[in-house]
Amino acid sequence: MKKKVIILGAGITGLVTAYYFSQDKDFEVTLIEKNKYVGGTAMAFEYKDFILDYGPHKIYTVLPGIINEIEKVTPLLKVKKQNSIYLKNNFFDFPLKISQIAQKMPFTALSSGIDIFTKSFSKLPDDSYENFLINRFGKTMYELAFKDYARKVWTSHPQELDKELAIRRVAISGVFELIKGILFKDTGKISADYFYYPPKGIKQLLDSLVKEIKKNKGKILLQKEISEIKLKSHKIDYIKIGNKKIKPDYLISTIYLDSLLDLVKNQKNINEQKEMAGNLHYQKLNILYLILNKKRALKDCWVFFPEKKFLFHRISEQKAFSEQTSPENKTALMVETTKELNELNINIIIQQLKSIGILNENEIQEYFTKSLDRVYPIYKKGFLKNLHFALDKVESIEDVYTIGRPGLFNYNNMDQCWDMAKKTFEHIKQGKTKQDWQKTKNYFDSYRIVD
Ligand SMILES: Cc1cc2nc3c(=O)[nH]c(=O)nc-3n(C[C@H](O)[C@H](O)[C@H](O)COP(=O)(O)OP(=O)(O)OC[C@H]3O[C@@H](n4cnc5c(N)ncnc54)[C@H](O)[C@@H]3O)c2cc1C
Repeated sequence: MKKKVIILGAGITGLVTAYYFSQDKDFEVTLIEKNKYVGGTAMAFEYKDFILDYGPHKIYTVLPGIINEIEKVTPLLKVKKQNSIYLKNNFFDFPLKISQIAQKMPFTALSSGIDIFTKSFSKLPDDSYENFLINRFGKTMYELAFKDYARKVWTSHPQELDKELAIRRVAISGVFELIKGILFKDTGKISADYFYYPPKGIKQLLDSLVKEIKKNKGKILLQKEISEIKLKSHKIDYIKIGNKKIKPDYLISTIYLDSLLDLVKNQKNINEQKEMAGNLHYQKLNILYLILNKKRALKDCWVFFPEKKFLFHRISEQKAFSEQTSPENKTALMVETTKELNELNINIIIQQLKSIGILNENEIQEYFTKSLDRVYPIYKKGFLKNLHFALDKVESIEDVYTIGRPGLFNYNNMDQCWDMAKKTFEHIKQGKTKQDWQKTKNYFDSYRIVD
């Protein structure tokens, strides 16, 4: 008899997990998504003649075999990556090139050089995002590139943020590695020269995954949620969807860890567990989409804006990812911000973009906004205790697995979601148990993002 697999959440991780299980005749798979659309944080949509992402979603990976796996589902373009960072009224290549800093900001370069050679910065206790980065990049570089960016994205004081955030989000461990990378042109570890992208946007990838799952007789239930997971001796007794009780062989969750634990009704320490998982906070992200009556707005795919004075932290142009996502004479700019997108802030953003020469008001055909509530995990100091507590609770249930970005409270990119989905399928297919799972989980923890 086929084994029943229920997957919660149809983001990239859930879709890819369902795709692998649906291909195997030993399994019967049902994917349950609470929204009326699939894609989760990587959702994509059509707007008039445009195909748009929720913020730019390039595909890049250092994980072996993943691009081949994605290409089995959708064609991919190989796109030259061009991106910048805007600092002190200048655009700089990103990652920063020391020669450019020396030329355009000589005093900053000098001050940064003094930081490096006196090593005066390596004295702070390594106990926060701020100290961790000052210890590795020096105060000058930290204040220039990391400090205000953290305040903008995580809306928290960088001293309150855990050093784990710097470890997981900043691909380079320090300024010496940065210099070595630049001198020896070994930037692959810190930044890619190119990326992959489906010609018709991330929507093409999502649509293809849905098509494959359905072709293989997998079920996708939209606007559905389960209301209860009932346990019996550390295993699922049944789950409830509406009034229906089902006993799956495996439940693979890619939803938020606290939402999953909320569903488990007869766990011990339920209140403590809820409180711990509830402490894993997220930051909301708003996106302003500006439809412009011109062919292109940027020379870059995306530009970072770490400085406090700008209301946004990144802008990107969908057309730079694939020409096929936008009409020939128009372009769409995506502006990412954690500020509320009310009329006042939208006007300020437009004026700020105008002041740096990106657009003129008369080029704006129209604009609209989108937001997702729980996008960036906020790693407050000490969050790992809460996270491990919540994860241990899930790991104590033999037939429930939690993976994906919300499922592990991490910053995984889509390639890592794909890899996790594949590894989880292989683990279950090979009949491995929760004892073997710890090794796989440690491997997931070792993922680092290369932008
Ligand atoms: C602005 C931005 C830019 C990014 N850029 C890139 C990039 O360039 N390249 C890259 O590789 N990655 C990028 N990422 C990361 C990428 O979006 C994520 O890695 C990926 O989307 C995570 O997928 P997931 O399936 O793990 O989680 P999610 O996408 O969060 O999916 C979880 C799903 O579960 C559903 N759900 C929640 N609760 C329930 C419930 N109770 N019942 C049923 N369903 C539920 C949600 O609706 C959602 O569909 C970016 C992220 C952001 C925010």
